[in-house]
Amino acid sequence: MNLSKIKLHWQILIALFLAIPFGYFFPEGIRYVSWMGEIFLTALKMIIIPLIISSIISGVASIGGGKSLGRLGLKTMFYYISTSLVAILTGLVLVNIIRPGIGVDLNFTQSVEGLGENSVALSDILMRIVPSNIVEAMIRGDILPIIFFAILFGVFISKTASWHKEILTTFFNAFFEVMMKMTLFIIRFTPLGIFGIVANEVHRNSEQLGTLAGSMLIYMLVVFLGLSIHAFINLPLIVRFVGRAKPYRHLKNMASPLLMAFSTASSNATLPLTMETVENKSGVSSKITSFTIPLGSTINMDGTALYECVAAMFIAQVYGIDMSFMQQMLIVITALLASIGAAGIPMAGLVMITIVLTAVGLPLEGVGLIIAVDRILDMFRTVVNVWSDTCGAVIIARSENEPTNVGL
Ligand code: ASP
Repeated sequence: MNLSKIKLHWQILIALFLAIPFGYFFPEGIRYVSWMGEIFLTALKMIIIPLIISSIISGVASIGGGKSLGRLGLKTMFYYISTSLVAILTGLVLVNIIRPGIGVDLNFTQSVEGLGENSVALSDILMRIVPSNIVEAMIRGDILPIIFFAILFGVFISKTASWHKEILTTFFNAFFEVMMKMTLFIIRFTPLGIFGIVANEVHRNSEQLGTLAGSMLIYMLVVFLGLSIHAFINLPLIVRFVGRAKPYRHLKNMASPLLMAFSTASSNATLPLTMETVENKSGVSSKITSFTIPLGSTINMDGTALYECVAAMFIAQVYGIDMSFMQQMLIVITALLASIGAAGIPMAGLVMITIVLTAVGLPLEGVGLIIAVDRILDMFRTVVNVWSDTCGAVIIARSENEPTNVGL
């Protein structure tokens, strides 16, 4: 049988299911497979920055700057913020009804080193958008300033003399085409990469998962339930009624990037595959895909937003701190900002929770309580982050009267 004939999402699923028992039962075999995951992730990292730069510049230049960019930008930002708020409120309602933090044993807390140093101030997020040195931002892999620079570059291409505009647009379109071809090439190795990553993660976390306390399961369940409601009810309703598109057909099309998001717990690592699939499976134009998806994978994180809110409320409940209505609203706002500021990499959300805790005066040590189960929740929230990005692309495309493959 020719393996390459099997659809990519089936290949990924098979790799995922084989990797779990492998990681659990063959710890001595891990070193023979973990390198596959590492090389795969490194290769993805290698293409992410040039991919983002070329896609945003060519996307923005083809939108043409000025009015149409402004309209598209506003719509996109409105979508990001409103869906993140819906996600947070879903989490807030659940955590208030189920109250998972009541009766949790504080002995379960793990100490977290360097907590104070890692905490991020709100103003940091805004400050981080404008790079003082774009090359340094690239070296550090700091995506937000790179996006900012690329958008500006694209905008000003459309303001140059027509001859220059033509050269630069053609150049960046060509650059983008090459990056997409490289993406397709690397994506072919996804099942092998995922096998290595998941086997390794299962191996690393197997002991911790065995000692899970019962009340942590309820906390996990609340996050999981909230994410499911947002992914299967809230977002599909928005796609159906705002985007006039078929949400579940779109969901089916997105199987590969969503499985990849689950396995890598990184929106950034998934970004190349997400772009490829949104364009080729759900039929969103390259112009809209290359503008919305890189932007979304960095700032639109519905899953992370919901998680920040539930985790902060959970910590308050465990420490027996009553949260007033105003404090809960503060959590909503800071959870939104934390999700915008979180990088699309594993465990970014866990670091950002310090913003939320600091803002409402909750003990930072609370992070030690939720750290044990973070990885598994990270996998689920990343799926929702990526799913929301793809829904956004479809909705924006439909609002610009693109037919797409999932339009009603
Ligand atoms: N891992 C998430 C992502 O890449 C971010 C987070 O930690 O919440 O989307």
